[in-house]
Amino acid sequence: MVKRLALGALVVFVCAQAPAAQSNAVTIRAGTVLDGKGGTLQNVTLRIDGSRIAAIDQGGTDGTYDLRGLTVMPGWIDTHVHIGAHFGANGRASNEGETSAQEALAGAENLYATLMAGFTTVRSVGAMSDRDLREAIARGVLPGPRLLTSLGSVNERTGTPDHIRQAVQKLAKSGADLIKVFASRSSRDGGGRTMTDEQLQAACGEARAQKLRTLVHAHSADSVSAAVLAGCDAITHGSGVTDAEIKLMVDRGTYFEPQFLVTHNYLDHKKQYLGIGNYTDEGFASMQKLLPIRTAMFTRAQQDKRVRLVFGTDAVAGAHGRNAEEFIYRVRDGKQPFMDALVSATSRAAEALELQDKIGAIASGLEADLIAVEGDPRQDVTAVRRVVFVMKGGKVYRNVAANAKGSKTNP
Ligand SMILES: [Zn+2]
Repeated sequence: MVKRLALGALVVFVCAQAPAAQSNAVTIRAGTVLDGKGGTLQNVTLRIDGSRIAAIDQGGTDGTYDLRGLTVMPGWIDTHVHIGAHFGANGRASNEGETSAQEALAGAENLYATLMAGFTTVRSVGAMSDRDLREAIARGVLPGPRLLTSLGSVNERTGTPDHIRQAVQKLAKSGADLIKVFASRSSRDGGGRTMTDEQLQAACGEARAQKLRTLVHAHSADSVSAAVLAGCDAITHGSGVTDAEIKLMVDRGTYFEPQFLVTHNYLDHKKQYLGIGNYTDEGFASMQKLLPIRTAMFTRAQQDKRVRLVFGTDAVAGAHGRNAEEFIYRVRDGKQPFMDALVSATSRAAEALELQDKIGAIASGLEADLIAVEGDPRQDVTAVRRVVFVMKGGKVYRNVAANAKGSKTNP
């Protein structure tokens, strides 16, 4: 009886699925595919079924989309943005006097710019307003990358270890996808350690109990090592790390997210930031001084292939939609090979988010998050600025190649 019921259910399932699988199929002809795991495929056809990649076939004829002549990659992942951050009506990095509608629209604008720039997943760390944006994207009504958010953060002022555990539980209950922790001061205030071992253990231990990942803001070497030893999952910034902390992160399997764009973005937009909070002349001098130190640290860290480097830009006002500049800084200033930078922004970033079974590579069974750029970023990294095709979950959001090769052909 039980057996017959199970068989009946199976037949219904097969009948319901099979015809849909045929009619929804979209194909993409590609000349060069960088698979996000360090591999390259040439002359293939990607078959997309619904939201997923169903198969990758060698050769093929015309596809629904012909991307030959472009470089196809998995949609990029930025593991650290502040999706709501934007310049106010007067062009300054202050949002005083804004209406909530203006604020919400700015978030939507940032999401759109980020998706058009080739980023199909971002992690925002994070404000409560991210939640509505996340839900709107998930409903399919707002064009934007898949959005994960911390909704808030914890720091030394959150209180005792008990207070910190309660704060983490509250964020988890509110629907946070991760917990953001501040273990050091800002780079404009010297970046010194702020949280005790007990506070860090409470934050990262409770996050783990809630099955949430942690991302720890830490500049100084001692704040990095304390967070790693407390069992936190990932470190962002790390401008002061030495070989000892790099080795510690390798030993503990901690993800490391250093970045260039954030500092350049502040310096490039000094006029808009200066005079607000700790964006003082001294703060800017401190960031300027840190730039070569952070570059040297990154150059050293990327040489050790065991370091689990991820791609998180810390995009704030002025950087949304320019996230891919991080690739250029990494390759040009940090001497990282483009393929390593790409892995850190695709398959390894997906691993860091525990989404490797869903996104981060071009492989059958994964979500069809695909982008294409004009040119070959392995030869000229500035090709990352020329994103002409963006597909997220099987849906095309951008298709603007200059020549016919990127355009939709008649199936
Ligand atoms: Zn940040």
